[in-house]
Amino acid sequence: MTVRVRCEVTGVVQGVGFRPFVFGLASRLGLGGFVRNEPRGVTLELEGDEDRIDSFLDSLKNDPPPLARIEEIKTDAVPTLGEKRFVIRESDLEGSRGVLVSPDIATCDDCLRELLDPADRRYRYPFINCTNCGPRYTIVTDLPYDRSRTTMSVFSLCEACREEYTDPSNRRYHAEPTCCPVCGPRMRLVDVNSRDIGGDDPTAEAIRLLESGKVLAIKGLGGFHLAANAAHDDAVKTLRSRKHRDQKPFALMVAESAAAHEIGIVSLVEERLLTGRERPIVLVKKRDDAPISPLVAPRSDSFGVMLPYTPLHHLLMAGEYPALVMTSGNISDEPIAYTNDGAQKDLGGLADAFFIHDRGIHTRNDDSVMRVIQEAPRFIRRSRGYAPFPVTMPLDTGGREVLAVGAELNNTVALSRGRHVFLSHHIGDLKNLAAYESFMEAIRLLESILEVTPSVVATDLHPDYLSTRYARESGLPLAQVQHHHAHIAAVLAEHQRCDPVIGVALDGLGWGDDATLWGGEFLVADLVGYNRAGSLEPVLQPGGDAAAKRPPRMAYAYLAGALGDGADEAARRHLPALEDEERRLTARLLETGLNSPRTSSMGRLFDAVSALIGVCDRNTFHSQAPMELEAEAQKAADEDGFYPVSIREDESGVLRARAADIFPDTISDMNGGVSTSVLAARFHNSIARMILDMVRRIREASGIETAALSGGVFANAFLTERLVTLLADNGFEVLEHSLVSAGDGGISLGQAAVAAARGMKERE
Ligand code: ZN
Ligand code: ZN
Ligand code: FE
Repeated sequence: MTVRVRCEVTGVVQGVGFRPFVFGLASRLGLGGFVRNEPRGVTLELEGDEDRIDSFLDSLKNDPPPLARIEEIKTDAVPTLGEKRFVIRESDLEGSRGVLVSPDIATCDDCLRELLDPADRRYRYPFINCTNCGPRYTIVTDLPYDRSRTTMSVFSLCEACREEYTDPSNRRYHAEPTCCPVCGPRMRLVDVNSRDIGGDDPTAEAIRLLESGKVLAIKGLGGFHLAANAAHDDAVKTLRSRKHRDQKPFALMVAESAAAHEIGIVSLVEERLLTGRERPIVLVKKRDDAPISPLVAPRSDSFGVMLPYTPLHHLLMAGEYPALVMTSGNISDEPIAYTNDGAQKDLGGLADAFFIHDRGIHTRNDDSVMRVIQEAPRFIRRSRGYAPFPVTMPLDTGGREVLAVGAELNNTVALSRGRHVFLSHHIGDLKNLAAYESFMEAIRLLESILEVTPSVVATDLHPDYLSTRYARESGLPLAQVQHHHAHIAAVLAEHQRCDPVIGVALDGLGWGDDATLWGGEFLVADLVGYNRAGSLEPVLQPGGDAAAKRPPRMAYAYLAGALGDGADEAARRHLPALEDEERRLTARLLETGLNSPRTSSMGRLFDAVSALIGVCDRNTFHSQAPMELEAEAQKAADEDGFYPVSIREDESGVLRARAADIFPDTISDMNGGVSTSVLAARFHNSIARMILDMVRRIREASGIETAALSGGVFANAFLTERLVTLLADNGFEVLEHSLVSAGDGGISLGQAAVAAARGMKERE
């Protein structure tokens, strides 16, 4: 029977080859009708045999074009018109902002084949792309998405490119950034004085420089990388000293997955992540015989590895090196450089030469970083390849949209639209003017591409964060969300849950509602509010921020709690890094309480133990001591010993876990000659058991059987694996992150969800 149906499709359906896909499928099935871009998605009408229309819809749902993300397909029967042919109708897209912008996507196999084919007109052309791959988010200046509103607008298509661009059967039909050597951007290799040094083949010359140990600033997709031959000790050393980065591991790029297996132990899940079209950096365990300079990741047991994701990377990886160091092109904590001028200004002292091009980057976008824990990919940093794809909340804002400004470290911002929360790229640590400017640009961009004017701004409670200050000065009504509540709300939002859970929020620092520093928190929480049911027993953080950089000071603070007057003697014996002067200062700070805020931070507890057992005495980068403590524990993965931690209920009814209990037991094990790795493993086991005890007591009191885990500590695989197993064995349902980072990069999502839930409650 011949019928006609009208379908409205929403989601990421424009700029991703959707119409040619529909055109091809309908034509193959002999259906008539049309497809057209609309302000809120794509509309199509299909006319023909009912069974064939069903099979069309099945294919669309189950096997859409690779970059499309279909949110919804609404179908309605309409009167037949007798159409036998299928066409793509041009549409007037003015004012169309409802569609979602695709993230930037790695070079596809078809483009890669052409890139390496001497007979192809784009042979070795570093900007080859098509509707299935290439830049998107980073080049979009406004919506609707077409070439004139991207940084490609300055390049006009040549005849050959235009033909492809206008042919519905071509892979480059409406591929907005399409171009070729005749009409598109070009690479230039220049020295620090902007003099051309590339000759006829700048790519070949860039490879030669890298092979010989030079440091290159390379303009990529979302910003500049500093690149160096990863097997070349002197090159890596030069990069370290110029970047003033002593110990923090550098990320590596390898040519293909076989090369990743040569430097790391890569599981199936990790392999799938590495080769996926988002191309994140994946943390993999180092191979001892990896042909990589020991200076790349000197104190770490893993490498951050990624595969090429632009045509330029594919070309550069043809050089004679096992891997390239590819680290963000920035000075210390500033955001990644993304303009040619900015790079030459910021990176002038860091790079020997600049490999640049004239395709503008509108929005900077760092590489995403992932770690596989218990066979599941987790975000350490969610940015390129994923931003700005939204997370769907379990509720609708009802038009009262929320701008969430995040926390301070690893900041992201988020903007809601209906049920969706759109997270920005990784902005970085909001501690300097450059980062703050990038933060404001990110807000402007989200507001513009989503065409949303927020009516409330959600922010952290911390009075000193730049994000909090921005929120206060915005003039919008404030929704203040406690940091750890936001962490737990982020997990709830991801899982589309609104019901109360036992939230376990573990991190370095968040402002508590009692104006002390929190970070080892057990909250009975839903999206609207929370009750602090338990925490680590607070200790003093001697010297405030200074102590966060100096793990031995935290160890001293815990020793003071555990041993009282005996602490100084124990510190002399076990904390050699704390020399006389700093030890006396620490003792005095603890005695007087001067500049020593109370903290229940789990991160600081990891610091303390890391220092006590001699693993790490200085955090030269964020979370160094805890990460090294985990790496140590991984060497004793079979160890199941632990130290009991007592839990008491304080005057206000909050359960307090006395982590100081761990210290005397650890010291007696140290005196008994127990190895460092066993000590580290026992500490992790102790924390996992303490958490289990806590949530069981809270379950008894509340009847809640779901535990939600969040906070930066859950980047720790050793702890997460043990804890999740214990919780599951004890009948808990466990909610973990999979769509955003457990760290502070996920805070903006949680803030948005809390503000939306409160708004909904008010309206009820
Ligand atoms: Zn392609
Ligand atoms: Zn062209
Ligand atoms: Fe946090």
